[in-house]
Amino acid sequence: MRLQDKVAIITGSSKGIGEGIARVFSAEGAKVVIVSRNEQEGLKLAQELGSEAGQAIYIKADVTSKESITGLIDAALNAFGRLDVLVNNAGYHISKNVEETSEDEWDFIMNTNLRSTFLCSKYAIPHLRKTKGNIINISSMVGLVGQPNAGAYAATKGGQIAMSKGMAIDFAKDGIRVNVICPGWIQTPLVEEWFDQQEDSAASRQYIYAQHPLGRIGTIEECGKAALYLASDDSAFVTGITLNIDGGVTLGY
Ligand code: NAP
Repeated sequence: MRLQDKVAIITGSSKGIGEGIARVFSAEGAKVVIVSRNEQEGLKLAQELGSEAGQAIYIKADVTSKESITGLIDAALNAFGRLDVLVNNAGYHISKNVEETSEDEWDFIMNTNLRSTFLCSKYAIPHLRKTKGNIINISSMVGLVGQPNAGAYAATKGGQIAMSKGMAIDFAKDGIRVNVICPGWIQTPLVEEWFDQQEDSAASRQYIYAQHPLGRIGTIEECGKAALYLASDDSAFVTGITLNIDGGVTLGY
């Protein structure tokens, strides 16, 4: 059990990559805090993990709201008494170039992906300092190499990487490690929604799979295992890195 009795908040964990991380952490003995805006799937997952291994709770929160975030952290501390790991995973993707992106859309994606990472980290750090805990930010390959029709999204994902490096330097003295995961394409509801929006979704799927040298897209469990490495003492000497879980898709760009 590599996370026995550690307490982890995972934002956006009712489904997709966050769910994969919650499942792997829970199986390794962590007490997990499942977070999303819509209760149904998150509650179901918390009930399943709570009865299976360790304990899990669901907290409804919107990471674009400071009050919601401070409420989330208070609730996690009330339930479990400590905080060891924060995973900033909640996020969304807007498929538009910068010219087509409205100012409201820019604000929305910034608030959802980047400002949320800032706010959750800001209010978690005092508690992580007590446990010498760590932060894992879920960025994207897009933050490293860009993507067509994703200027605003790329800005949020590149911003997460840069901010993580800064935080890794600032909080190393407190024993807090800060690392980033950059997934390639991962099989999640968000990605399925994107495939569904394409004119020929079967052809798009084939094209995207072929873009990955390993010939497929990734699974949420594979992201969970990467996060487990960064959350656990196995990576005790690792801070400020970006760990690509991408089937090699960023190679050869
Ligand atoms: P997803 O399937 O759409 O799941 C997103 C999760 O975040 C859900 O639990 C959603 O629940 C929650 N969420 C969204 N907005 C929220 C908010 N304002 N407050 C609280 N929770 C919120 O997405 P995903 O594909 O797993 O992506 C997760 C992260 O990985 C994102 O940051 C994304 O940029 C990144 N990523 C994904 C891929 C990929 O291929 N899937 C690749 C690279 C990076 P509610 O809607 O109920 O709130």
